[in-house]
Amino acid sequence: MKNAFIIATGTELLIGNATDTNSAFIAERLAELGIKTIGKIIVGDKKEEILGAFRLGADLADIIISTGGLGPTKDDLTKETACEFMQVKMEVVDQEAAKLKDFFARRKKAMPDSNIKQAMFPQESVILPNELGTAPGMYLFKNGKIIILLPGPPKEMKKIFTDKVEPLLREKLDSQVKKAVTKTIKVFGPGESQVEEMISEIIDDPQGCSIALLAVEGEIHIRITAEGENSEDSRKIMEDVTDRIKTKLTDHIYGHDNDTLPSILAELMKENGMTLAVAESCTGGYLAKTITDLPGSSAYFWGGAITYSNEAKNELLGVRKEIIASYGAVSQETALVMAQGIKRIADSSIGLSITGIAGPEGGTETKPVGLVYIAIVGDKLEKVKPLNFTGDRESIRILSVKSALDLIRRSIAGQ
Ligand code: ATP
Ligand code: MG
Repeated sequence: MKNAFIIATGTELLIGNATDTNSAFIAERLAELGIKTIGKIIVGDKKEEILGAFRLGADLADIIISTGGLGPTKDDLTKETACEFMQVKMEVVDQEAAKLKDFFARRKKAMPDSNIKQAMFPQESVILPNELGTAPGMYLFKNGKIIILLPGPPKEMKKIFTDKVEPLLREKLDSQVKKAVTKTIKVFGPGESQVEEMISEIIDDPQGCSIALLAVEGEIHIRITAEGENSEDSRKIMEDVTDRIKTKLTDHIYGHDNDTLPSILAELMKENGMTLAVAESCTGGYLAKTITDLPGSSAYFWGGAITYSNEAKNELLGVRKEIIASYGAVSQETALVMAQGIKRIADSSIGLSITGIAGPEGGTETKPVGLVYIAIVGDKLEKVKPLNFTGDRESIRILSVKSALDLIRRSIAGQ
């Protein structure tokens, strides 16, 4: 129940004798409710045209709202056409017939026979009384859609819309929100198009869910809304789709909803009784900052060294000058010895290092800006991961930090 299609009926609107102001009013009010109008159409008073408009509306939207053509005259065909479209019968509603007779009696006029049409409504429809005129509006739920028919005169339409339609839609939206279940699955590693490709089968056949991909600072968030008959049903749908996504993305998924890479690191470290020490070059303490943003991180985080210069790498971590001279400060070799050095000093279960070229200067042909080495050393683990990031200095540093956290996560999980 998120999008709407508006049908304005009336030949006078088509030929320019009158301007369709109704649909603009309705679209604006719908937008305030959070309902998107995805199409509008103006059609003449012919049955086939109106029928075509309903078909189009039902193809495109969940809510179809028409205005006009509810009156007693021969060219007022909206109600009949809507019934044909929905395959429901019309029936006389006695209460409405009485009201109509009373209306004419009070004006001391005889009621033309054709007016009885105004007391006829689609079966199962709910009447929306019209205090300013004789043609009430109505709505009906059919095949998962809401079809709302309103009279054409703008004053009448606006009053019914404000008094009756808005509360109805608001209530529908509320109950829908209560029924729906949402979840965000968080992925680090593959890019947006890769993730899209990996779960394309699920995106193409979401089975009662809507799925949206969001790229957030190097992460991909998969936002899922499951809409079942009730919240229990929605939860089941969510479970199924989550399982399908997990099968496809496996360990690229690091968490969901409020999880962050640092919070997952905290969980894994505590669960496994591990400690971590870091040696940072191009991130200048950003990794340590990110880890310690989480209160309670002292339970597993020893601390670290910001070894930005070659001297610091040598003096604080024991990276031999020859290693830096032969391979460079940004190299697999240096990264590894940095991680080994900090692990030895801290006597932690894991030592991690980051060295790279964050730019904008300092890149060469063989070692361009964005080249970053992340090394992880554990008791039975030694791994260096070369990475090539694009972007400005800030994004290269953020991506380095996230990649480091992700590497620890994957290494612990894979042990
Ligand atoms: P009535 O009982 O008054 O005939 P109705 O539902 O049959 O109501 P119409 O006959 O289609 O409505 O239109 C009645 C009046 O409202 C006409 O003057 C028409 O120009 C105007 N009207 C209809 N549709 C719109 C619209 N979309 N925007 C502005 N005015 C409209
Ligand atoms: Mg009319």
